Amino acid sequence: MSRETLIQLLYIVAFALFIYGLMGLTGPRTAVRGNWIAAAGMGVAVVATLLTPGMSNWWLILLGVGIGTAVGVPSARQVKMTAMPQMVALFNGVGGGAVALIAWVEFRESAGFAGEPGHVAVASLFSALVGSVSFWGSLIAYGKLQELITGRPVGIGKLQQPLNLLLLLVALACAGVVIGGGHSQLLIIGVLLAAAALGVLVVLPIGGADMPVVISLLNALTGLSAAAMGLALDNTALIVAGMIVGASGTILTNLMAKAMNRSIPAIVAGGFGGGGGGAVQADGDRSVRQTSASDAAIQMAFANQVIIVPGYGMAVAQAQHAVRELADLLESRGVSVYYAIHPVAGRMPGHMNVLLAEADVPYERLKEMDEINREFARTDVAVVIGANDVTNPAARTDQDSPIYGMPILNVDESRSVIVLKRGMAPGFAGVDNALYFDPRTSMLFGDAKASVAEVTEELKAL
Ligand code: NDP
Repeated sequence: MSRETLIQLLYIVAFALFIYGLMGLTGPRTAVRGNWIAAAGMGVAVVATLLTPGMSNWWLILLGVGIGTAVGVPSARQVKMTAMPQMVALFNGVGGGAVALIAWVEFRESAGFAGEPGHVAVASLFSALVGSVSFWGSLIAYGKLQELITGRPVGIGKLQQPLNLLLLLVALACAGVVIGGGHSQLLIIGVLLAAAALGVLVVLPIGGADMPVVISLLNALTGLSAAAMGLALDNTALIVAGMIVGASGTILTNLMAKAMNRSIPAIVAGGFGGGGGGAVQADGDRSVRQTSASDAAIQMAFANQVIIVPGYGMAVAQAQHAVRELADLLESRGVSVYYAIHPVAGRMPGHMNVLLAEADVPYERLKEMDEINREFARTDVAVVIGANDVTNPAARTDQDSPIYGMPILNVDESRSVIVLKRGMAPGFAGVDNALYFDPRTSMLFGDAKASVAEVTEELKAL
């Protein structure tokens, strides 16, 4: 078998593993295995690429692999589940940055794509532009989610859109001159810099609450830039892997935008998603009703049906195991218990599913929003554990609210509501929640894990 055939064969094995691994990512039970399978596929693709004739610079390659492993493995192991979106943003960003740098190297090696077929120049310049947008945009997204910079929209008002358009035109003009035969290195640097400024200026005005959608969109862009680079380098692995990332990123972006009732152009144009930690409106004349662990336990014990509504606070408190114990106890007393899963509860897609699966909550107890929303009206007690925005009725009624239009869990339709949180702080969108002032709602203040454990103890004593 020739080396060329071996390489192609290894690539086919790698693609099969990518696709098989990706299929595993569709459910929490198979996700970890799917991830390992796809990673093995990437390992095979790397080996096949290293077998390419003419490969040299082994020390440099090994150094790169060494540094990547030394930085990547510990940070992926240590990252907290709640910091996963920014981790994804960072990893995705460096992918886009690597593609942009490869395009630059290709430009230098071929003296401005002189003598190369037209498609090589076009694909490389596309990769430089989109890869640079993705790298810089992802860094800003990382900074916002990590709270290194403000999560609130930062814009320059009416000038924003014309400036973005101007930067895009500058990048395209530089690329156009290169395609027309220009060889000056300043041209590709112009593409990279204009695209970098564009990436920064497009993401800065987007509020923190819309950041997950933006990260997913940037992820799709990185995939497309990698696929284009594969076209330029005539590397099938890069084309296939890039297209898989591009396609799955696009589908995820659409699904998330739909779940938050946002349009992607509106998100990119800015103005949505107030971002984390804003001030709650003063509520001098409204008061909330507090409850105690023992009263909450009695209320749940005598219910026919209880719906648990988990949110970001459950993740912060790592209360999932305690919640499962409480639910088991209630079920043993004949109460039927379900979990209401909002698509954007927590800080990443599937966040609640992952946490509850970790606590071995039976999968059939988890109900998606559309299914569970029909149940609230015949539910005795809805127990909201560290969820806030995803239960906020303002999303249905208040046109001025930054979350207006986002579908929510209809917690306010149940006969009574118990909210477990530490105080009256707002959720990610930074807005007040009228649910807390509803006469059917009582608040059990405290860390979610401690509160759930107390309720469980009270329940045992009943
Ligand atoms: P929220 O962010 O709306 O609210 C979380 C609540 O948890 C806070 O109000 C906080 O109140 C409470 N809390 C925090 N720590 C604890 C603790 N230790 N014990 C008890 N309560 C605690 O969460 P939701 O899940 O309802 O909504 C998710 C929000 O995040 C949405 O706005 C969504 O758009 C956004 N988002 C979603 C992402 C995703 O992909 N899922 C990613 C990024 C953002 P207090 O401090 O008073 O305790």
